[in-house]
Amino acid sequence: MTTLDAAVRRALIEAAAAAVIAKADELTALDQAIGDGDHGLNMKRGFEAVLADLDAIAAKPLPEGLKQIGTTMVMKVGGASGPLYGTLFLQLGKSLAELAPDTVPDRAMLAAALAAAIEAVKARGKSEVGQKTLLDVLAPVQAALAAGETPADLAVGARDAAASTVPMKAIRGRASFLGERSVGHMDPGARSSEILITTIAGFAAANGAPA
Ligand code: ADP
Ligand code: MG
Repeated sequence: MTTLDAAVRRALIEAAAAAVIAKADELTALDQAIGDGDHGLNMKRGFEAVLADLDAIAAKPLPEGLKQIGTTMVMKVGGASGPLYGTLFLQLGKSLAELAPDTVPDRAMLAAALAAAIEAVKARGKSEVGQKTLLDVLAPVQAALAAGETPADLAVGARDAAASTVPMKAIRGRASFLGERSVGHMDPGARSSEILITTIAGFAAANGAPA
């Protein structure tokens, strides 16, 4: 994959949005176990709003499109996850500002952008890795990306990372109200991050990223 033109951007954003929307019931069930049962609905609402603007978002250069996705998440998604995913996409867009038009960000650029976005989420959520949140998927995936892992390995890493939240005790977010009773359940935000990453990695592999 050498170009990331409007048609490719459109297909990628559509695939990511559709994957999350398709798993809304599962995300809600996870949030029913340790939260208030709205994570699936929140994510579905946000990504449906993205799909409603898909042509306009895809027409923009990637950094601008990412910023619009971030703004949409902040505005349309309730709960903690809206501002947090909004921050993630906004900072990804800001960090990729220098990307040449219609080009695929290289690994180093992508790893740096994701690192900056993770730091922005931490600042926004006053959270750290190990507290049973989406950071527990994003951070190991960023490390794997920086270390040169293939898209297929990144996807496996994202799945393992989401699974690793099951034995964790929640320290941030609603699940933390449950204390020890949060142990034994996968974090909903970790699962939604896993879905996004496995979909994007699969798209990259299918579109010719080095295996
Ligand atoms: P809410 O918790 O407000 O109902 P959601 O259910 O949509 O919002 O999202 C919950 C997810 O948000 C959690 O599973 C967790 O991954 C993530 N989360 C919540 N609070 C934080 C935080 N302070 N830092 C990072 N992630 C968080
Ligand atoms: Mg919730």
